Amino acid sequence: MKLCSACLLGIRCEWDGRDRYKNEKVIELSKREVLIPVCPEQLGGLPTPREPSEIINGDGFDVLNGKAEVLDRNRKNVTHNFIRGAEEVLYIARFYGIKQFIGKENSPSCGIKYIYDGSFKGNVIRGSGVTSAYLRKNGIEVVSEEDL
Ligand code: SF4
Repeated sequence: MKLCSACLLGIRCEWDGRDRYKNEKVIELSKREVLIPVCPEQLGGLPTPREPSEIINGDGFDVLNGKAEVLDRNRKNVTHNFIRGAEEVLYIARFYGIKQFIGKENSPSCGIKYIYDGSFKGNVIRGSGVTSAYLRKNGIEVVSEEDL
């Protein structure tokens, strides 16, 4: 049993609420083992659809250390939603004894190796999303959707 970003399975939890992304390798994997879909942004109390958010001046580890913030496109601070979402995902992992999370790249929540750079221009930098960073800090293995 593993956790995965819900949108990788085609669940319409992305910021615009559309079915615009899924990962065929994750869907194939779901036929062989149980994948529990989680969307940290929804679990953190944000609605769908919602404004897109990005980490400003750092990555998920910096957010957890209080050195960076998560703002939405209208400059509303949603850092607390992102941290709460990460905590909820860890709760689910511990509840089921799950040791691995498969994350969607570029997301400020679920990105494993890459996140958007905070400019809202579609630029990507190396870094971890808030949930991925939080899971890593708490002993959960995180795997990029690109490395399956
Ligand atoms: S927070 Fe994660 S699961 Fe939710 S839409 Fe973004 S990438 Fe997908």
